[in-house]
Amino acid sequence: MKKKIISLGFILVLLFSLSACESKDLEKNDGERLRVGVTINPLKDFAEAIGGDKVEVFSIIPDGSDAHSFDPKPKDLKDLINTDMFLYNGLEMEEWIDSVLGTIEGKDIKIVETSKNIDAMNISEEDDHSHEDMDEESSEEHNHGGKDPHVWLSLIDAIKQAENIKDAFVEVDPDNKNYYEDNFEKLKKEFTDLNSEYVNKFNTLTNKDFVTGHAAFGYLCRDFGLTQKSIADVFGEGELTPKNLEALINYSKTNNVKTIFSEATASEKEAETLAKEVGAKVVKIYSLETKEDNMSYLEGMKYNLETIYSNLSN
Ligand SMILES: [Zn+2]
Repeated sequence: MKKKIISLGFILVLLFSLSACESKDLEKNDGERLRVGVTINPLKDFAEAIGGDKVEVFSIIPDGSDAHSFDPKPKDLKDLINTDMFLYNGLEMEEWIDSVLGTIEGKDIKIVETSKNIDAMNISEEDDHSHEDMDEESSEEHNHGGKDPHVWLSLIDAIKQAENIKDAFVEVDPDNKNYYEDNFEKLKKEFTDLNSEYVNKFNTLTNKDFVTGHAAFGYLCRDFGLTQKSIADVFGEGELTPKNLEALINYSKTNNVKTIFSEATASEKEAETLAKEVGAKVVKIYSLETKEDNMSYLEGMKYNLETIYSNLSN
């Protein structure tokens, strides 16, 4: 009898796990909601805003971790195989992307490099500290293609990323074309309005010197006419060497910099060291690569712009 109960239990477990597998497959193929995997958090927000109730979006990068150097685990890759679409930033933002693409290519998953067709900015020599303390050969391997990947920190380029996502949704699910296009137009208007508001505000400023922890804000500075100086380079690498510190101190003193902006990727301690040297204060802003302090992309951009504007106008 006992044996029978055990084997019955075993069969039940087996049946249960079989049906669990089945429902997962159905989920992907039921034609109701597109399952979309993304890397950085802005892409999740754009996909959710445009896809609404037609999509289910998840990010493979845990909140608060370093998106540049994230290391996908076998579980992350398994999750991605079960998706209809995969969105990533590109421009070597995701230094680890090859392992993901190698796994999901040829598996009936629509892969979208969302920075496609964006006119990417070159990284200035100054913002790429990766060549320091390296011989010539390894420096070449580590040049990240020479482009700044942080395009979403420009509201205008973020619209282009959102448009690439919208186009992919329309391609995969043409029946809901109008729905995706309406949602995209709403997003576009919100981003355009916010951008115009701050173009006008920053135009009135005389102080345009922006000193930050990690050189992620090149696009934002370009859009609003600011000059970016940083402790860590565009990829969050490079430390505050005595030489860098001296140059930043001199720059900050000459330009009467009163605020050092700091965000999660760069060490706050380094920002504080610099601030102390020049008598400035440290103010937090967000690169928005992963979700922090429960802020959406748009909330984060509003916060960044208002914080930078109000501190530079003092
Ligand atoms: Zn970054």
